[in-house]
Amino acid sequence: MKTEAEPTSPACRRCGTCCQKGGPALHLQDLHLFDGPGALSLAMVVTLRAGEPAFDQPKGRLLPLAAELLKLRGAESPNSERISGGSGWACALLMQPGNACALYERRPAECRVLSCQDTTALAAMYELERLSRADFLPAGHGLLAVMAEHEALVAVARVAPLAVALRAGGQESLDAQEELTRMALADRAFRTGLAERAGIGPEFHEFFLGRDAATLFAVARLALRPDARTGLRVQADPLGQPLPTPAPAHLPPHPENQP
Ligand code: SF4
Repeated sequence: MKTEAEPTSPACRRCGTCCQKGGPALHLQDLHLFDGPGALSLAMVVTLRAGEPAFDQPKGRLLPLAAELLKLRGAESPNSERISGGSGWACALLMQPGNACALYERRPAECRVLSCQDTTALAAMYELERLSRADFLPAGHGLLAVMAEHEALVAVARVAPLAVALRAGGQESLDAQEELTRMALADRAFRTGLAERAGIGPEFHEFFLGRDAATLFAVARLALRPDARTGLRVQADPLGQPLPTPAPAHLPPHPENQP
């Protein structure tokens, strides 16, 4: 996207389509965005954890992530206006009206190489040198241990198979419900602990812990309900619609997925 002050590149129609398909995944070259004057806050970053389903645009289908990735937050951020008709995962730095990038001069690496006409350069760097949460914390930092424990107790890769088991009925269903409920309670406890014991506000929780259990479960068409005995109960949501699944990067849609 171009700022209002810049001439529009002949290669870019400023339609905003790429930015409305989700903000960029972040790479090592983007570390500078979080340093110095005008630095981005980590509150602008969402972690998609390893095992979490995300739309792989080069392959054109939903796949579990092999490794975690960090994305710029979606348009629901208070820093950005919601884009009419957007997916809800439009880049938070896309400003309306005008489809202008709030960070154009310092925009992330993926945005720099993206061309609608030729995505070769973007595809080439798509999975290279992606940033992870550990890149922001010194070795041995206490939060690394917290994040590792959260990964173990709230294993995102378990959600989809447990959702299937929960719908199977019988003892398998009860076991799945119990495990999912334990995960939801653990996830809630971690987030409460971050806020109350580490003073880390909710705006940073999607960076440190990724998307919460309710959001991950909703993708698997599971609902979290209050429960007088355990605090929370997980159940299949017969009316549930999968939430928009964030694309790990903003490549144009795969041709095979076009109507
Ligand atoms: S950082 Fe700027 S150019 Fe990149 S997706 Fe967001 S709005 Fe578009």
